[in-house]
Amino acid sequence: MSVLLTGAAGFIGSHLTERLLESGSEVVGLDNFDDFYDRSIKERNLTIARDSDVFELIEGDIRDASALASLPGHVDTVVHLAALAGVRPSIERPAEYNSVNVDGTVSLLEFARERGIKRFVFGSSSSVYGNNEKVPFSEADPVDHPISPYAATKKAGELTCHTYHHLHEMGMVCLRFFTVYGPRQRPDLAIHKFARLIRDGRALPMFGDGTTQRDYTYFEDILQGIEGALRFLGDHPERYEVINLGESQTISLQEMIRTVSEAMGMRPEIERLPMQPGDVVRTYADISKARDLLGYDPCTSFDAGVKKFVEWFEKEGVS
Ligand code: NAD
Repeated sequence: MSVLLTGAAGFIGSHLTERLLESGSEVVGLDNFDDFYDRSIKERNLTIARDSDVFELIEGDIRDASALASLPGHVDTVVHLAALAGVRPSIERPAEYNSVNVDGTVSLLEFARERGIKRFVFGSSSSVYGNNEKVPFSEADPVDHPISPYAATKKAGELTCHTYHHLHEMGMVCLRFFTVYGPRQRPDLAIHKFARLIRDGRALPMFGDGTTQRDYTYFEDILQGIEGALRFLGDHPERYEVINLGESQTISLQEMIRTVSEAMGMRPEIERLPMQPGDVVRTYADISKARDLLGYDPCTSFDAGVKKFVEWFEKEGVS
């Protein structure tokens, strides 16, 4: 398999690059090193991948047709993870989110169509569920009420993938990732941000009363799901599927703070703040479809995953 992986320098993309290389695939990474967080972090994420002879990194923007035209001809699969991620900043910069996440996805789908690529995996998000009342969240639930621009762009991405599947017979899997964490986690995400504040002896901002819940998913489980999606499309190139990838366990904000603090052996102060606009009350994945179609079997408990994150953070976490 020869994979075009967008967002290869990012948190999930860099881990996936290594996993694909280990399993014998060639990887062409496309990343523009956007300034959402520091370039040096992304460069470091690529250290291991850059040692491989069958990894090529192209610095470019997914919206740039000439960058796409210059990609090698042997690519037969696309995994599209490049995006402006993060719910809160999307409220400040909706047009940019739309441009990268929606126009950028169209641009890649056009690339895949022109090259006759039939296997396409899109990195979507649990945020499309908005404040879904019913739990756990199932792919059959309506997702017509996103509550942030970011969520709306991910839903738009899923819809556009469906259009290309329908018109051009491309095999598509849209994977809804539920809050991913672990070594290399993006510095803006809560576990990483809190670890930094705890280390620096600063108070943790707790938005709301601490009862909001997230289905935190360890990155290795996400990788297992992406690999499952690639296998699934190999066997069923005619399918379009939307599939949740979570742990199917909820952790409250208070529990998350306690787990991270205990793993770091420190007791932080908490600053209570109102809920933030765009934040959902809970996420909770029904993963029965992923189990059935992808053989997905997430196996990392939150305690174990946080310990691994903290070990990494204490050695290599960013300031
Ligand atoms: P990340 O920011 O670490 O990685 C995204 C990468 O995309 C970055 O390296 C960035 O430089 C690149 N990029 C951004 N705009 C680009 C452009 N225009 N052209 C080329 N490259 C561009 O984020 P992540 O946490 O690894 O997330 C990866 C994907 O998974 C994203 O699509 C995100 O929306 C989705 N997702 C992540 C989570 C999570 O908890 N991390 C949850 C749900 C969905």
